[in-house]
Amino acid sequence: MRQKKQNWSCIGFVVLFAWLTASCAQKGTDPASLVAWRMPVGFCYVDEVAPEIQADLKYAGSDNFVGRPIAGYEGSRAILRRDAAVALGHAAGILRQQGYGLMIWDAYRPMRALRDFRAWSYSPDEGTRASFYPRITKRKIYQEHYIGDSSEHTWGIAVDITLYRLRDGKLVDMGGRHDLMDTRSATDSTEVTCQQRFNRGILRDAMRAVGFENYPKEWWHYRLENSRPWFAYDFPVSDNLQRDGVR
Ligand SMILES: [Zn+2]
Repeated sequence: MRQKKQNWSCIGFVVLFAWLTASCAQKGTDPASLVAWRMPVGFCYVDEVAPEIQADLKYAGSDNFVGRPIAGYEGSRAILRRDAAVALGHAAGILRQQGYGLMIWDAYRPMRALRDFRAWSYSPDEGTRASFYPRITKRKIYQEHYIGDSSEHTWGIAVDITLYRLRDGKLVDMGGRHDLMDTRSATDSTEVTCQQRFNRGILRDAMRAVGFENYPKEWWHYRLENSRPWFAYDFPVSDNLQRDGVR
């Protein structure tokens, strides 16, 4: 009798496991995604520190060089290391005086996103070429360091960012879109108009004033200077990360 009970328990467990697996498969969720991810100590949502800064995370949608949402992007709130977010808030204060706001295109980026970029680079898909890398081959994207297998974004100290006008909310014309992998995207490029270069200068001046350094090949990319990398993180960009209380 006791043996029979144990058998029934085993069968019950197997049925429960099968149901859970099937349930996950049906919803298209990976059982690993059921893990409750935590915000690492020292990180924060940018909107907690600087609520006036807008975010339009390009890798969370399809308007990016891969043409679909990128692995690890599950939310719409930008995440940064707290010191970077505080500095960015100061830049927003400077720009507000001039009639501009800041719009974040990417901030903290998980390692799994870099692996997704690399997998895409091996695929034959070239559907986004005209919009994002019109004058180079896919192979050159890595050779020219527009993308790499490591990134300051995974440390939480880098942002891809642009300006919008406070009076009407429209993005300022900077002479090219986010991730346009082209010589025109170099901050001091002479292939863009004087006004576009001037606009890039407004952003750079404000960012420099609070300790951010520009990547000269990409007018939109900034990293917090003098900040040591702590670690390349891989938690997802999610709007509901659990917190430990200590920040
Ligand atoms: Zn960047």
